[in-house]
Amino acid sequence: MFLSVFDVFKIGVGPSSSHTMGPMSAANRFLDLLLSDEWPRPSTGAHVAAIKVSLHGSLAHTGIGHGTGRAVVLGLMGEHPDQVDPDKMDAIIDGVERSGRVTPPGHPAYWFQPKIDLIFDKKVPLPGHANGMAFSAYDKDERLLVKRIYYSVGGGFVVTDTELEQMRAKKKSAAGSARIPFPFATAKQMLEMAERSGLTIAQMKRANEESHMSRAELDAGLDRLWEAMNGCIDRGLKNDGIMPGGLKVRRRARQIHDKLQEEWRSNRINPLLANDWLSVYAMAVNEENAAGGRVVTAPTNGAAGVVPATIRYYLHFHEDADQHGIRDYLLTAAAVGGIIKHNASISGAEVGCQGEVGSAAAMAAAGLAAVMGGTPEQIENAAEIALEHHLGMTCDPIAGLVQVPCIERNALGAVKAVTAASLAIKGDGQHFVPLDACIETMRQTGYDMSEKYKETSTGGLAVNVVEC
Ligand code: SF4
Repeated sequence: MFLSVFDVFKIGVGPSSSHTMGPMSAANRFLDLLLSDEWPRPSTGAHVAAIKVSLHGSLAHTGIGHGTGRAVVLGLMGEHPDQVDPDKMDAIIDGVERSGRVTPPGHPAYWFQPKIDLIFDKKVPLPGHANGMAFSAYDKDERLLVKRIYYSVGGGFVVTDTELEQMRAKKKSAAGSARIPFPFATAKQMLEMAERSGLTIAQMKRANEESHMSRAELDAGLDRLWEAMNGCIDRGLKNDGIMPGGLKVRRRARQIHDKLQEEWRSNRINPLLANDWLSVYAMAVNEENAAGGRVVTAPTNGAAGVVPATIRYYLHFHEDADQHGIRDYLLTAAAVGGIIKHNASISGAEVGCQGEVGSAAAMAAAGLAAVMGGTPEQIENAAEIALEHHLGMTCDPIAGLVQVPCIERNALGAVKAVTAASLAIKGDGQHFVPLDACIETMRQTGYDMSEKYKETSTGGLAVNVVEC
């Protein structure tokens, strides 16, 4: 099993990796398919004239709040999550709505009227996964030419129905990969390999990454990730106002930040200093995410605040913090994120919020424990503590928006991550619940969880708070 650090952390736009970035990428994949030879033309003159899209399961239930429709339109215009300019998105969508066509670069114009051709089908889920999408292309006489099913499986990953089956079959078979030096698929294997090699988790992960790219490329990519995360925090601390979507939730990070700076300047004693800074950093990221700004999946958009907040905390409060530490942090966090994704899930639609904010907290705790000088055992312990205390957490965003409870939840996830790292560092790495057992518990709990609590906004807070 090999999941690159650049698969776990991806630069994109908010508000949701599975409901925004995934569908945008799926639309791009469908456009690529239309130009390819991978589908049989019924006749030599068969030309695609129109596209229709249906969204299913969780994408249909919470897609409006998560901006899924907008993401599909942008994707069909050839926009990619990591490149689209958030400031131009509204104009692009307005243009498609006015013309009733999409005009992706390198393609002819296709008829696509979002109000008619984009269907939120809440009645019929697709069989493979809760986040299903069907893209269909028609000729000018409305004859179906080609249809593809895609699933957005969390963290911005998109697979076809065939790929999903292959992925599941692979998981059941041998977990290892011969092409990387440290093919750990579980925390147990990771610890055994660390012991045998004498390397840290970050060093093993680095060796795996460097079997696919140069050291300079890896370091430049890691630095770019942190730059994007840090930029997101800074924008979130500056921006103010009401977040989009209709809930009328006001941004709070800027105001809290102003107060904290004032406190800092006046040397007033704040017994909750670290917690407050962690919280404001995480909230800044998730407010940007809710507003559709540029964010980094970590491992998802909904949980994007935890990792950046704890890295900024590390820079703020740890005297020896530096760029090398940030790289080791990201590599260690990605190693843990990859194990969780491989053995359970990082998708709220699959296992609830324990898979999103819980995984983010486990990754952050591991990263922080690593840069605090933790042994591999202490790092594994930190990740386990953080994940264990998110077990059972449901996904119930009010109005299907990634705002309440998501924004504060990231703040609390960051606080738990730091506490977990600190507890683990104070121990000797020996502990009662192995990380693998905790991950398996999360998987089983998610499997048993009612669909109401898996990103459908049909249960929990989403039905008990009256929207104003
Ligand atoms: S409740 Fe958690 S899993 Fe659900 S959308 Fe919010 S952050 Fe994501």
